[in-house]
Amino acid sequence: MTNQWQLTDDQLKLQSKARALAEEVVAPRAAEVDRSEQYPWDNVEALQQNGFTGMTVPKDLGGPGHSLLEAVLVVEQMAKVCGVTGRIAVEANMGAISAVLSYGSDEQRKMAAEFVLGGDKPAICITEPDAGSAASLMTTRADRRGDSYIINGMKHWITGGSVSKLHLIFARVFDEQGEELGIGGFLAIRDVTPGLSYGLREPTLGLRGIPEMEVLFDDMEVGPEMVVLPPSGLRRGFADLMNAYNSQRVGAGTVALGIASGAYERAVAFAKEREQFGRPIAEFQGLQWMLADMSVQLEAARSLTYRAACSRGAGPDGPGTSPFPDANLAAQAKIFTAEASIKVVSDALQVFGAAGYSRRNELERMYRDVRMFTIGGGTAQILRTVVASRILEQKLPQSRDGYLR
Ligand SMILES: Cc1cc2nc3c(=O)[nH]c(=O)nc-3n(C[C@H](O)[C@H](O)[C@H](O)COP(=O)(O)OP(=O)(O)OC[C@H]3O[C@@H](n4cnc5c(N)ncnc54)[C@H](O)[C@@H]3O)c2cc1C
Repeated sequence: MTNQWQLTDDQLKLQSKARALAEEVVAPRAAEVDRSEQYPWDNVEALQQNGFTGMTVPKDLGGPGHSLLEAVLVVEQMAKVCGVTGRIAVEANMGAISAVLSYGSDEQRKMAAEFVLGGDKPAICITEPDAGSAASLMTTRADRRGDSYIINGMKHWITGGSVSKLHLIFARVFDEQGEELGIGGFLAIRDVTPGLSYGLREPTLGLRGIPEMEVLFDDMEVGPEMVVLPPSGLRRGFADLMNAYNSQRVGAGTVALGIASGAYERAVAFAKEREQFGRPIAEFQGLQWMLADMSVQLEAARSLTYRAACSRGAGPDGPGTSPFPDANLAAQAKIFTAEASIKVVSDALQVFGAAGYSRRNELERMYRDVRMFTIGGGTAQILRTVVASRILEQKLPQSRDGYLR
């Protein structure tokens, strides 16, 4: 890839350091991670030791203070060789950690920073069986008792539940008189917070090295020091908390982009090498145009993703007032990148012919892995509602997000 993005020398160095780790350490393990369906703790250790977790933690909290774009450059390289490791790199750098770093108390920020700098990938717990796209219909509740909250309910499809230490849990908040105050965020720690446990693991199509879990709260008591309350308070706080998802959306799009870029590069190499009718199949115009279309899709996806990573969002008080990427740009980037990446990986598999359809080939794994990104973290349909909200300058009732204009 040429430096069309005018990355700085430091960013190019970071990118090549990530590429080297991905190719030398992560790539050789990718097939086994998929086959065994085991969380790749050795890759997590490698990410942590190379400074690729907690990248966005500011310097005053002991982190390197990298930008979101710099984290994206690392995620892209990991995902080119292993979608699972790419996803771990996303969640160890953005998503729940972004919410806590932005809205948490000093103690919470310090604690969350220590977790991710130590290699933890925090879990974000929003989705419930009857509250998927309609996240605000969640029924998990937090009842105030004295200074503490008692949380009851369950979440499902929680990425990394059972391997993550830190959890950010969204719940409806009730005061001691039983009056509902809004939706708030609560921190809990695996093996430390009593009442936090895990149910069934979802058997998934792809990305099998990360557990997708039911997370259960049974009279889980959390003290005031574990309540993450955005400055806007409980009534509008849900919108703020959901906006933290915009960084995760940019990250999710980046994993799709990385997987598709990896598939494309493999297809180009194969097309040059595989011969039929007495010449390399790359000499056939039918395939040349397919490869050209793939490269166009990837460049467009990369441009949207990097642009979203560089943006600052509109918060309740106007443009630039959210600490996260702009909701509209993040949604546009994830819609396009997720859909284009599915097509690119499918076409790359086509270039391989029967070899691409074999489980001996990485393309088969990439094809399954890339399918996720139009669903998790806000579906392509719901994200179109986010974009439509901005176009029509009104908050549409089906939007899963916060302050949409
Ligand atoms: C691999 C994976 C990882 C995930 N990780 C997490 C996680 O870590 N934490 C977490 O909280 N959640 C997680 N999720 C859940 C994810 O956020 C939800 O799956 C997603 O929000 C959609 O909810 P749903 O699956 O219940 O689908 P539904 O909301 O039931 O939607 C079903 C279909 O209807 C469409 N639809 C729904 N409403 C509308 C509408 N108004 N207009 C048009 N179409 C609509 C949807 O786009 C979809 O195609 C994960 C999901 C997956 C697959």
